[in-house]
Amino acid sequence: MGKEDYTIKCRGLSLLSGGLDSQLAICVLREAGAEVEAVTFETPFFSAATARKAAAALDVKLHVIDFTDDEIALVKAPPHGFGGAMNPCIDCHATMIRRAGELMSSLGYDFVATGEVLNQRPMSQNKQSLGVVEKSSGLLGRLVRPLCAQLLAPTIPEQEGRLDRSKLLALSGRRREPQMELAKKFGLTDYPSPAGGCKLTEKAFGRKLKDLLDHEGLDDRRLVELLTTGRRFRLPDGTGVTLGRDAQENKLLAERRAAAETIVAPVSVPGPTALLPHVASEADLDAAARIVCAWSRTDAFSSDVTVKVVTDGSTATRVIPRPYSRDQFLKFQLT
Ligand code: SF4
Repeated sequence: MGKEDYTIKCRGLSLLSGGLDSQLAICVLREAGAEVEAVTFETPFFSAATARKAAAALDVKLHVIDFTDDEIALVKAPPHGFGGAMNPCIDCHATMIRRAGELMSSLGYDFVATGEVLNQRPMSQNKQSLGVVEKSSGLLGRLVRPLCAQLLAPTIPEQEGRLDRSKLLALSGRRREPQMELAKKFGLTDYPSPAGGCKLTEKAFGRKLKDLLDHEGLDDRRLVELLTTGRRFRLPDGTGVTLGRDAQENKLLAERRAAAETIVAPVSVPGPTALLPHVASEADLDAAARIVCAWSRTDAFSSDVTVKVVTDGSTATRVIPRPYSRDQFLKFQLT
């Protein structure tokens, strides 16, 4: 059923990740009489691609908010701490709702909605947690959870009779069958599994992020964006090394190097490019050159390997003698 089939009495902004629950929230809101636009967020840690696809399928206007500065501030100091990795989920979620609330106000809309289901996640979606998020987002009475609204206190649009409470739902718990049934009812066929998509929830990514935070810091957005590129090493004197895993990553690292940074790459054999934001010592630079050789395709070559070292507009070469063993560097590898 399309959005044009309902009588519109109020306007809302619904958070859309692209997952099934967030898509259902929009369908239910339309049935309850709301005109809905969607809002999603993107950072170097998660993309808006799934939300864009879902918005197109639902024929809903999508606002995409760059959330990078917010997320970095939360990663540096999360008021409610982290989940299982470097994911500040409680504060991230509340901040997203706050940002959506700001957009709601600027558009003159009536409410913000989410696809949350009561008790779907025991810690973050119990009644008390939903209430805390509503309060901390500054959206008291204007945060609608259409999938479980009948189990919660009526919001202002419901009290005013502009959002039909009888059309909102009373879902609770972890069972997915009700959502599957609703998906059929609304003709939704394309949706990703509920989990996944955010790098911050991955422990291996968390190690790299924490390492960057502890050394170069997170103020250089380019370095944050490069966290999804290459293998990472932290050498004994503090030099960070990002090593390209294929030709595309090698090209990217060379292109995104800042003026004062150092590139190390083999010239006599095929192999990876390494980006070093800061060289802490000659010993580290030598180790980085050896890492480049160890990960180069040197098996077919019996001779020493020549690498180039590009820094501050000058290029030098150095010769690295065999053997090119990876084993001695594995203890410095983050991922
Ligand atoms: S999974 Fe990622 S995007 Fe989602 S709330 Fe947690 S930190 Fe934020």
